[in-house]
Amino acid sequence: METRFRVMLALAGFLTFFGCSSRDEPLSIPGGGYPCDQPRAAAPPCTGVTVQYGVAGGLGDLGAAGLDARAGRAGAAASCGGSCDGGDVNHTGGLATGGSSGGAGAFDTGGSPTTGGLPTGGAPDTGGFPSTGGAATVGGAGGAASPSRPSRAVVISFDGLASRYLGEMLAAGSLPAFQRFRDLGASTLDARPDYEVTVTLPNHTSMLTGRPVTAVPGMPAETHHGFSANGYSEGVTLHNGGNPALSYVPSIFDVAHDYGYRTCLYAGKEKFVLFDRSYDAEHGGPDLTGKDDGRDKIDRFLVLESEAAFDVAALDLVQGVCEFMFLHIADLDTPVGHQYGWNSPEWQQAIMGIDTMLGEFLDQLVLDIELEQWVIVATADHGGEGYDHSNPTLRAVYEIPFFAVGPGIPAGADLYDLLDGRRWDPGDTRPGYDFYYQPVRDGDAGNLALEMLGLPSVPGSLMRELCLGG
Ligand SMILES: [Zn+2]
Repeated sequence: METRFRVMLALAGFLTFFGCSSRDEPLSIPGGGYPCDQPRAAAPPCTGVTVQYGVAGGLGDLGAAGLDARAGRAGAAASCGGSCDGGDVNHTGGLATGGSSGGAGAFDTGGSPTTGGLPTGGAPDTGGFPSTGGAATVGGAGGAASPSRPSRAVVISFDGLASRYLGEMLAAGSLPAFQRFRDLGASTLDARPDYEVTVTLPNHTSMLTGRPVTAVPGMPAETHHGFSANGYSEGVTLHNGGNPALSYVPSIFDVAHDYGYRTCLYAGKEKFVLFDRSYDAEHGGPDLTGKDDGRDKIDRFLVLESEAAFDVAALDLVQGVCEFMFLHIADLDTPVGHQYGWNSPEWQQAIMGIDTMLGEFLDQLVLDIELEQWVIVATADHGGEGYDHSNPTLRAVYEIPFFAVGPGIPAGADLYDLLDGRRWDPGDTRPGYDFYYQPVRDGDAGNLALEMLGLPSVPGSLMRELCLGG
């Protein structure tokens, strides 16, 4: 196994828009109002799990709910009609120290006492998007156990995967694993990244936090994460390098880890250490959700080349080393996209290589984990055109795919067909966040994975409550 990979670093509405907007023009109108004067139909009742975290108590304060990390999932069930997992998954707690795959990377050992970076206030919960009445408060008795909730969740980000070229190659039959991926669940090629920013670290921060990158007109100053740099500097975290209105920027890793899941981040670029650092034992927030699982929210962080990343990911999921994973696959952006150009022969070769890896990854999961026990959400941080992706107004940049596979998600479905009233297909347009008819965005990916596990959304997140999978 070791020869197959190299560890580089081991550190710690159906809206086709009816002709209301010309192509490529932003839909939002500064100062309010919408180009289409269409009625705002009430969204169907959301069955997702949303928690109102205590603002004063900071992240993860479930207060009187008094939930143990395991039983916490039962508590979550109370807010989604008893359909959530009642905590039947065996979480033995703590990261397995033996039997790990690969043996390549170091675990975050964490455990060092924190001396700073305390989140003093947490983020106010802004109610999510679309705002249909705010969040429910967790409390009361746990719901009935349901066998339908998976015990493993993976969010995959294919860096630079442009829908335009993906779609062309799917149509040509060149990507059998991606096609299989689509056939296994719901998908669309009409998802969107952040409205204003289409570069790697800011957009991945949106995936992890459910927040826009920059301030949104008309929304509270605490809404966006504000991390717009695409590099990493020592000492910088999402909390001190982003939106100054936020003292702490919680992530999907906070929620999953606080609820007792073993969390892993495998990335194809070293600069993703930003995320590991932001949620390490020094900078991560306290766990106030039931049992104290500590401040170090990412149990295992590795920088891996793509083939190794898929190999390690599959093995660690099968063995239970990781139960909640974010997997970043870099090739289509770096080196291939920037070096040879998007949709160049080299780029096409690269995506076919990734297709093979994805196929083997799916094989492993299908073979070794019961189908009901895993969920995969996949998207991209941006597409690309020419040798770049930093212009968010280009269709080849802002059109990205979104896949969701898991229990309760109809096989082969168009994602937007399942989201009636919660998200709308933007057609070929680029809606701003202040537009009512929101598309599915990459920033929905992390929260959807939490939701599929029966966990609450990230506190303060805007993009959430896709409500798939029952
Ligand atoms: Zn990128």
